[in-house]
Amino acid sequence: MKVRVGVATDVGRRRSANEDSYLRRDDDAVFAVADGMGGHRAGDVASATALEALEQRLGDGGDLVEAIVSANAEVFDKARANPEMRGMGTTVTAVRVKDEAAVFGHVGDSRAYLFRDGELTQVTEDHSLVEELVREGRLTPEEAAVHPQRSIVTRALGVDESVDVDTYEVDLLPADRILVCSDGLTSMLRDDQIAEVLRGTADPQAAAENLVEAANRAGGEDNITTIVIDLDPGKQRARKKAMAASKVVEPPADEATGQWEYPLVAGDDEPEDEPAVAARRPRRYRRALLWIVPFLLVVMVAVAAMWWYARSTYYVGGDRGRVVLYQGVPGGFLIWDATVEERTDIRVGDLTEERQADLADGHRFSGERGAELFVERLERSTTTTTTSTTTTIPVPPA
Ligand code: MN
Repeated sequence: MKVRVGVATDVGRRRSANEDSYLRRDDDAVFAVADGMGGHRAGDVASATALEALEQRLGDGGDLVEAIVSANAEVFDKARANPEMRGMGTTVTAVRVKDEAAVFGHVGDSRAYLFRDGELTQVTEDHSLVEELVREGRLTPEEAAVHPQRSIVTRALGVDESVDVDTYEVDLLPADRILVCSDGLTSMLRDDQIAEVLRGTADPQAAAENLVEAANRAGGEDNITTIVIDLDPGKQRARKKAMAASKVVEPPADEATGQWEYPLVAGDDEPEDEPAVAARRPRRYRRALLWIVPFLLVVMVAVAAMWWYARSTYYVGGDRGRVVLYQGVPGGFLIWDATVEERTDIRVGDLTEERQADLADGHRFSGERGAELFVERLERSTTTTTTSTTTTIPVPPA
């Protein structure tokens, strides 16, 4: 997928060196920020080493997580081989945009955000001491923002032989914008301040630079790196054309509110236009419901009718020499097996041959009452036989 990208990095106002690094590959739509740490410029080496390894693996079409895992190994090996670099490490937050989705790989306290419909949402979760305390409810977000230990990361590349990589996947919309940045931006600006800059700057390069400038104005206490990724506006236009061509099935309301192209790159942001993109999805959904609901109703009525037929039928048959009253259709009907309603003591062998033949196939009734009366009749016929038998057999005198 083609994207429009802006990148900016700056040492800030307090630090003597910039230990942040970034990776930008527009053709593969792969981007990453790494924030290195370690004395004597080892942080610089850590972040650069990680992103070189990442670029190499991803250039071969490699998996994002596997690439980050091998970047970890590169940094770890280099730190072990060089005493002056011992203990160095780096964050990495990487994104690959592909097939209208963004896949993120993340370790540390750099961040990725999704900017959609004028709203900023943090995609990644910080691996930092204060964020863990916030998640445990032991610090408020406000306390975390000014906490003296807010720059301590709990997970980084290069400090251990293995590393846990968080991944996230986001389905993208045509007007979406992605921001990847180091903590030099987010420790200086609140999310609403970042969102304000993104809303006010249509061009991605200008947006990346304006964010760095705003962080510097707020103090610039750390290195600042920003990558702003806009989805290709050409794609939006092609989509609008495709929609127009298929307008036969569009409800008329679409013509009035059919604002699809979001002028994010054209530079003429009007927040009122934004909901139009989101509004289109429920409308499509409703059109599908128009067909699905009647179809499901027909299916449900048919199933109910078959169930009613299967279960309102009763029959009388024989089982292990006894007469049994069943609910259901002999042999079962579709998914519904016949079930035993009542086992009687009537012996099948006591019945006339004609009756026995009748029960062999199951004597059917369209209701329970008829079947019960039939069983009672069978019972009486055998009792009569038994009674007459007893009376005809001479009882020897006592
Ligand atoms: Mn930093």
